[in-house]
Amino acid sequence: MLTVEEALEAILARISVVETERVDVLGALGRVLAEPVVSRREIPPWPNSSMDGYAVRAEDTGAGARLAVVGRVEAGTLPPRSVGRGEAMRIFTGAPLPDGADTVVPQEDVDAADGHIEVRRALERAAFVRPRGEDVRVGDRVLEPGTLLTAAEIGLLATLGYGQVRVHRRPRVAILSTGNELADLGTEPGPGQIPNTNTYTLMAQVLEAGADPVSLGVVPDRLEAIETRIRAARDADALVSSAGVSVGELDLVREALLRAGAELHLWQVSMRPGKPITFGSFGARPVWGLPGNPVSAMVTFELFVRPALLKMSGRRRLTRPRVRARALAPVPNPGSRRGYLRVCLEGSPEGLGARLTGEQGSAILRSMVAADGLAVVPPDTFVPKDGDLEVILLREFPS
Ligand code: AMP
Ligand code: MG
Repeated sequence: MLTVEEALEAILARISVVETERVDVLGALGRVLAEPVVSRREIPPWPNSSMDGYAVRAEDTGAGARLAVVGRVEAGTLPPRSVGRGEAMRIFTGAPLPDGADTVVPQEDVDAADGHIEVRRALERAAFVRPRGEDVRVGDRVLEPGTLLTAAEIGLLATLGYGQVRVHRRPRVAILSTGNELADLGTEPGPGQIPNTNTYTLMAQVLEAGADPVSLGVVPDRLEAIETRIRAARDADALVSSAGVSVGELDLVREALLRAGAELHLWQVSMRPGKPITFGSFGARPVWGLPGNPVSAMVTFELFVRPALLKMSGRRRLTRPRVRARALAPVPNPGSRRGYLRVCLEGSPEGLGARLTGEQGSAILRSMVAADGLAVVPPDTFVPKDGDLEVILLREFPS
């Protein structure tokens, strides 16, 4: 059986990045940059004041220095003249520094009367002046391809005059749920039926990974029916199905994938929850057969599908952050498979603490709802109270 690392490496080796497109800068929020951004501008474009006050020469300042006010410059205008020795110019935040001046005295540090100011203290040269190019210089390479664009990057692009920017397309991911027992949202489960959970968790996980999900609905455990539905996913960039990948008579997904023309690359990974996971491809299009239990489906998506979707989307960093935490109660992982155990985190002055979210059954979705992360615990291991845990963060903490 493969380790999680071996399986992920084999999967990522078969993933290629989707094409790019140009979009309006605000539409690029949450997308992945596909070009380097090199500045054609100096930001700020000229030295300017960071305070409301008076533009002066530093050498003219000092307790009791008296200077003549020779003009006024507001943001959005140009200085009417330069500043000479013994002179000051009224200036406002963001206004260009007049020639001759090198320093700004904040208005709180002067007494102003009769066209003069009296400075209360000496200022260092360049105090309260924002130099030209302090933030960005012409030719600076400010953003690299592969960067996830958040509000700060959008602002920087706008500052640099980018109305549009080249980003990766969002991968389209088809989601299929298999099982005779499934009743989809909108129908009351009949006798022996259960509600379809996985279509919705998996589509939500696809969205959280920055990709576009498309539902292929629910298909019964019949070989031809599954094969036909799999073929319907042809125009998606990837296919994720859940259930029917174990060894039972009704576990037909692998066979249906082969009949639909897929090549299968791996099955079964040594982990808990979620051992039976299938990965294959139709040419360059990847396909995953995840286990059916809702928690197993979510955890295997996290470990094997999400990083691949991030790679397809052009992202550089593919893995979630990991933190160390202290076990607030014992965390047992009996058995020969590595555990990915649902934990909630608590912050305290001694650092992060983690505890299991409760019963770890792979059908217990509420243990996932309560989880901030997954503790990675080696096989046959009992982590005692106060023992050290490695936790994959699944959400912002504290949320
Ligand atoms: P299977 O791998 O088909 O044996 O499914 C394992 C377990 O997951 C069974 O108890 C199924 O009823 C359950 N299951 C499969 N698909 C779904 C789904 N879409 N939503 C909720 N539970 C499911
Ligand atoms: Mg089944």
